[in-house]
Amino acid sequence: MTLTGKKGLVLGVANKRSLAWAIAMRASEAGADLALTYQGERLEENVRELAATLGKESLILPCDVASDDQVNALFAKLRETMGRLDFVVHAAAFAPPEALSQPYVQTSREAFRMALDISAYSLVSLARGAQPLMTEGGSIITLTYLGAERVLPNYNVMGVAKAALECSVRYLASDLGPQNIRVNAISAGPVKTLAAKGIAGFSDILGVYRERAPLRRNTEQGEVGDTGLFLISDAARGITGEVLYVDGGYHVMGM
Ligand code: NAP
Repeated sequence: MTLTGKKGLVLGVANKRSLAWAIAMRASEAGADLALTYQGERLEENVRELAATLGKESLILPCDVASDDQVNALFAKLRETMGRLDFVVHAAAFAPPEALSQPYVQTSREAFRMALDISAYSLVSLARGAQPLMTEGGSIITLTYLGAERVLPNYNVMGVAKAALECSVRYLASDLGPQNIRVNAISAGPVKTLAAKGIAGFSDILGVYRERAPLRRNTEQGEVGDTGLFLISDAARGITGEVLYVDGGYHVMGM
């Protein structure tokens, strides 16, 4: 699966454990040129240090997906520097911490708005920004979780946001398909990342997956990276509007 000559944008690298980083590494190894974004100065150094370990020089740009101005500035810069885009990896999500520990029924209007805006609407705005740059078709991928379909302890409003995200994948796939732009989601099993640590009881969820998933182990970051590479590559050229599970098969179990 070669990506030689392909240009991609990756959002959501916070550190070396990030799922976005796993996909960025695989894409870079396959020959892609990358632009990586960071949210706020706090993460800039991290992203620059990680990017320096890739074989090629990457473009490092700021982007808070909650800001239309920053999203617009990002695509203006990409147009100026890269000229074209072949893929986008969307791996950003956020909900206020209290919304991921108290009962869902207590979710405030503001927590709901933030979670849906940052974790779901951002895919729509990024797809709209990328569309004119994907002049030779393209692949947009996002990261979701089983909590979109089933109740998982403390996932709460993030599950509702992921449901909106997965539905957006289908509508975007329909809108952009005629331009040969594919839109898919990876539904990853739980992986211990910064974002995951914000979910109360996350370690217990890891234990349940190890015990009950058909593969009897937890999902590895590299497995998500490999599937990301597949969905970006031409090997997945017939797949769009899909949610692909990389969870050791956990989602097929009834108990
Ligand atoms: P992560 O390393 O913490 O990545 C989450 C990223 O989202 C961080 O870089 C974070 O930046 C960024 N982000 C949050 N708000 C943002 C904003 N307003 N603008 C731009 N970026 C923003 O955790 P991860 O687990 O790899 O998460 C990546 C994606 O995978 C998320 O969509 C997550 O829901 C999904 N996912 C994760 C798992 C899992 O178990 N880890 C399973 C299934 C799906 P900050 O650190 O600055 O907030």
